Amino acid sequence: MDLATGQERSEKTAMKEPVIVAKGLTVGYKLHRERKLLTALRDITLTVNRGEFVCLLGPSGCGKTTFINAISGIVLPWEGTMEVNGAPVTGPGPDRAMVFQDYALMPWRTVEANIRMPFQFQKMGLSDEEIDARIARYLELVDLRGFEKSYPYELSGGMKQRVGIARALATEPTILLADEPFAAIDAMTREAMQSELERIVMETRQTVVFITHSIDEAITLGDRIAVISRRPGRIKEVLDVNLPRPRFDHDVKSLPEYADIRERIWDLVKDEALSGAHGD
Ligand code: ADP
Ligand code: MG
Repeated sequence: MDLATGQERSEKTAMKEPVIVAKGLTVGYKLHRERKLLTALRDITLTVNRGEFVCLLGPSGCGKTTFINAISGIVLPWEGTMEVNGAPVTGPGPDRAMVFQDYALMPWRTVEANIRMPFQFQKMGLSDEEIDARIARYLELVDLRGFEKSYPYELSGGMKQRVGIARALATEPTILLADEPFAAIDAMTREAMQSELERIVMETRQTVVFITHSIDEAITLGDRIAVISRRPGRIKEVLDVNLPRPRFDHDVKSLPEYADIRERIWDLVKDEALSGAHGD
């Protein structure tokens, strides 16, 4: 198997080929009933380079999903710019694929038919044989061989999300956008899923933007972590995570660097986290 080592990966990111470039991005929503505009993100400047795994960390409502929506073209900039692969984003495209918190599987479709869906919605110029081969490869990659004919209700949360990941990856997008994909999965399975996602991404070398509100999940997965504050969402700080990969094999949680970065992030988020805990 073509596994990139941690070192190759950091050499890759050291080449710094920008894939997602947000400059002074301000964006939000029109609230029709109240006839006003809600600014969700203000003046976001962030570059994600090819092969990089960037986590967005921040409290609920700070604009994390909005940022991913701006990358995928569901919302368009009010001010500033959002470019993907060198061109302004004007709408969704097959170069970007999403993994959702609630899996977003079609309950009446089998595992195999769920993974086939993107190929039915978007013309990708692949033959039926090529599509079948893709589906088989990604089913294998997420360790779901033998479950092709199962329905979502027959699967655990972790397995459902593996279907969601396979569906996103099967189109071989440049960018994987993951919106709290493991938030609904129990704690033990969640660690296993994090470890699997890291393994998969080391193999496929996708560029990943991963949303979480778990500090540990962000440190466990990210090459960099963008900490976002609320109302309106702004980037507080972007931190580098220089821990060896695969992180689970290296038991990074026991390293002093892990505790250091955890403490730095906690210092950045604690005010908002504590006010959130008091119901603000
Ligand atoms: P997060 O993902 O960090 O929880 P969101 O990006 O979903 O935050 O939301 C940012 C802000 O934008 C919040 O105040 C939220 O209520 C508002 N918002 C999100 N989606 C919509 C929408 N479709 N219409 C109106 N307001 C929205
Ligand atoms: Mg969200």
